[in-house]
Amino acid sequence: MSATATFLPFTKPSIDEETISAVNEVLRSGWLTSGPKVKELEAQLSAYFGGRPVRTFNSGTCTMEIALRIAGIGAGDEVITTPNSWVATANVIIEVGATPVFVDIDPKTHNIDLNKVEAAITARTKAIIPVHMCGLPCDMDQLYALAQKHRLRVVEDAAQAIGSTWNGQRIGAFGDFVSFSFQVNKNIMTAEGGCLVLNNEAEAKLAEKYRLQGVSRSGLDGIDVDVLGGKYNMTDLSAAIGLGQLKRLHEFNAQRKKLALHYFDQFGKDFESSTGAELPVADFTNSNWHMFHIVLPERIHRAEFMQKMLDLGIGLGYHYRPIHLFTLYRERGFTDGMFPIAERIGKQIVTLPLFPNMNESDVDRVVAAVKSCL
Ligand SMILES: *Cc1c(COP(=O)(O)O)cnc(C)c1O
Repeated sequence: MSATATFLPFTKPSIDEETISAVNEVLRSGWLTSGPKVKELEAQLSAYFGGRPVRTFNSGTCTMEIALRIAGIGAGDEVITTPNSWVATANVIIEVGATPVFVDIDPKTHNIDLNKVEAAITARTKAIIPVHMCGLPCDMDQLYALAQKHRLRVVEDAAQAIGSTWNGQRIGAFGDFVSFSFQVNKNIMTAEGGCLVLNNEAEAKLAEKYRLQGVSRSGLDGIDVDVLGGKYNMTDLSAAIGLGQLKRLHEFNAQRKKLALHYFDQFGKDFESSTGAELPVADFTNSNWHMFHIVLPERIHRAEFMQKMLDLGIGLGYHYRPIHLFTLYRERGFTDGMFPIAERIGKQIVTLPLFPNMNESDVDRVVAAVKSCL
């Protein structure tokens, strides 16, 4: 690492002074946990998603678990998902007692290959959890046509897709259950947190119960518990961060898009043919550019490549190692070779730095480093 170059991580949140003050105010208010800020964030998110009911939670994992519970999915049911995601996407299926069924991914989009889903549907299939990888949406027309044909519930893992669109409509503004994460690395964050977009007020009420021990209240001292809920509520501290972030979502995503465009410009037309590496789908219509991935050629050993980049002051990520090859999943019968595309990509993919506070010269530096390390 040269003396002048500062370390460039693969992502970093942008937090303004106004948001820091808002968090301070919550601390001084005496109301720290779920309260007025949570209500305000939920109202703003609902407006953002075209008026659909939205509830916030303390992660973008419990959102999916709760969606499955609301849909009544449990023991004996199968849920189809992608092996190429953060492990949360499949863990929630096991958590509710159902069986995860994986379908391989498309080599270009890295999303679940919807053309292969039908072959995985059985009489026990109840739902599908697609992931909009890096904010690049799945083909929503094909997805919902499949779901309708086979009477499947859909829980969109839109953890990475806030601000992404399909035919001009926001992801989350249509569809079935749509789950977003506000974990610190996402396009907007609340330190930890998430939200679930639901279909109607009945589902939203049930989501509130699953969120907090199954409790429903009435009057000053009325309380009952009629479902087994957990402890998944968002704090007002987090909601205050979220309100500050949501205000800037459009600006953040515009900057991500600009930087992604600059990556393509800098890599140039012959980058793939001259190196054997693969660039992401150049989608500047629908994607929110949550991450910028390249797939390294087979001749390159990923850990060595990451170390070389680190020596140049550049931190990379890898998203993701295929879920089915983790021990927990191998113990359930999954093995190497079952989903070859996810396995190849999971072994060779790296995430390049991309976050709103970067500038184009940072991109230039990353591209020069990638080219030299290849
Ligand atoms: C971040 C992420 C999650 C989990 O969200 P948390 O808020 O960390 O629980 C799930 N799926 C995908 C695709 C993610 O990127």
